[in-house]
Amino acid sequence: MMNIETAFAADGPLATAIPGFAARPQQLEMAGRIAAALKDNGVLVAEAGTGTGKTYAYLVPALLNGGKVIISTGTKTLQDQLFNRDLPTVRAALKVPVSVALLKGRANYVCHYHLARNLIDGRFQNPQDAVHLRAIGRFMEITQTGDKAECPEVPEDAAAWMYATSSRDNCLGQECPDLKECFVAAARRAAMEADVVVVNHHLFFADVMLRDEGMGELLPSCNAVIFDEAHQLPETASLFFGESVSTSQLLELARDTRSETVAAARDCLDLIEATRKLEKAARDLRLSVSTDNARFGFAQMEDNKPFQEAVEILDTELAEFGAIVETQAERSEGLANCLRRTQELQEILARWIKPENTDWVRWVEVFSQSLSLNATPLSIASIFKRQMDGHPRAWIFTSATLAVGKDFGHYCRELGLHWVEPPIDTAVWGSPFDYPQQAVLYAPQNMPEPNSPEYPDAVAKVAFPLIRAAHGRTFVLCTSLRAMRRIHELIADDLAREKLDLPLLIQGEGSRTELLERFRRLGNAILVASQSFWEGVDVPGDALSVVVIDKLPFAPPDDPVLAARIENMQKNGRSPFMEYQLPRAVINVKQGAGRLIRTERDKGVLAICDPRMLTKPYGKRVWQSLPPMRRSKLESEVVAFLEQLPPPASSG
Ligand code: SF4
Repeated sequence: MMNIETAFAADGPLATAIPGFAARPQQLEMAGRIAAALKDNGVLVAEAGTGTGKTYAYLVPALLNGGKVIISTGTKTLQDQLFNRDLPTVRAALKVPVSVALLKGRANYVCHYHLARNLIDGRFQNPQDAVHLRAIGRFMEITQTGDKAECPEVPEDAAAWMYATSSRDNCLGQECPDLKECFVAAARRAAMEADVVVVNHHLFFADVMLRDEGMGELLPSCNAVIFDEAHQLPETASLFFGESVSTSQLLELARDTRSETVAAARDCLDLIEATRKLEKAARDLRLSVSTDNARFGFAQMEDNKPFQEAVEILDTELAEFGAIVETQAERSEGLANCLRRTQELQEILARWIKPENTDWVRWVEVFSQSLSLNATPLSIASIFKRQMDGHPRAWIFTSATLAVGKDFGHYCRELGLHWVEPPIDTAVWGSPFDYPQQAVLYAPQNMPEPNSPEYPDAVAKVAFPLIRAAHGRTFVLCTSLRAMRRIHELIADDLAREKLDLPLLIQGEGSRTELLERFRRLGNAILVASQSFWEGVDVPGDALSVVVIDKLPFAPPDDPVLAARIENMQKNGRSPFMEYQLPRAVINVKQGAGRLIRTERDKGVLAICDPRMLTKPYGKRVWQSLPPMRRSKLESEVVAFLEQLPPPASSG
């Protein structure tokens, strides 16, 4: 078998087959450590700075090692990029006979059964849905995979997909009359047969770890799991190890039950009536809270009478609904499935109303159209660790941002990795870029307190001279939407006053992908955005020279899950700030900073406006965790650095 050194050698297969490929020492070392972990069924937590070439560093050992490997990414973008670009490239270069499969969540595949049911039922919110649904019907006849990304006539986010795909709740699984043609089942069979399966973290937790039907054997059969963008795991795992009942789930249940009744129990008018009552109870629950897009802890809702009453009514209606469905459940597989779902939701709702477990946090999330009642474990460490136990296999956790300094303690504690025996291996490989030459970390002096009302104005004042010196090419990343809007307004005023013709974009003007595409294309734009832009954004080259971060991104302590975790740590005599909040903020800043320097030719300035960078002892921990950029507190120095950069192509 080819070894790692040979694969990465200057005259090796990668260098020969891939134009411009040159292995970096960090990459080779990382690949060696991963190969060792794969061989010994070990656990490796590895941070690899931007430009290390970590993708090849895990793909090469994964492909050479043999055995079955699951690779899980944080985002669908990276998932597609791995499957369509990196994996085929490395596989062809190494000439290894390895079969690969891409597996997406079930909501990405057309469901024969529900599409047919809903076409018959024919009740849609608007005529567009009906048109789309018929187009999906035609697509279903010709597609090989059923993957909605391949259906050009219907946008991926069209509402009609809801009627044409399945959910874990409503899939009939082995009982389904369409099982033979089922695309989800086919994709899962392909994943079972492949040597390398590429998934994303959501799918990994929802289906692989929690063993959705037909997925039960995937994890047990694999020899290694590699998580890329692994810094997202604690968040994603919390989401999936918790439980929730949402009004949209209830509406979906009512809708499915109605179409099943029309198909198999048309004479049972009581059931049709019960679906309407259930829908009303779900809608009333949503309407009982007047706020949009907010989260509340259970205690905050205790005095909210309309909400409490709506939950009670829902509980009663769901029970009555269940009793009627039960009388009809034997008439079809579809109705039997509706009964099972009703009972599951009843149980979750009952546990939410009267919890059995004090280690869970109850909270409510309100969206514009729906509301969910959630319960999240205070800690996912023991649950995650339990999932890792069993059949021995290697676990690799990698990302550009996992450690605080060289310390992985917070990450390992969150996932229970500190309990693993024998103790796990950790490693940090810094970026090969010449940061002292390529980048400046700017911490402006005399900033007001971050919570003071004049703070956003002060941030705009810091940002503007940098924008001017860099001819645009700036991201301003804000920790709140309000600050984002205010800073955008002030920068617009400054641009107008100085008659600077630079395109100014703000998050929300288009989809994230569109905005980023415009930003790249314009080449001299300014984008003011919130935290959701911090991650996974790649703008290599000249279009981005300045990243301004308004405040250290501590998660808002009023977030109900965070608040409960903080309280719990305090009760146990631990320091939530040092053990949890600060490490998370550091990881976040590192993500934001990582947007700036993507290649060895990029140059730029990272401005962190938060005065706590200079005044608090932990400020030092933040900058010490960042790549070794040159540091400055002086605007004049930073402006001079930017002024010597070549001007952007688009500004002439
Ligand atoms: S098995 Fe599930 S996903 Fe497949 S066609 Fe049937 S209901 Fe749809």
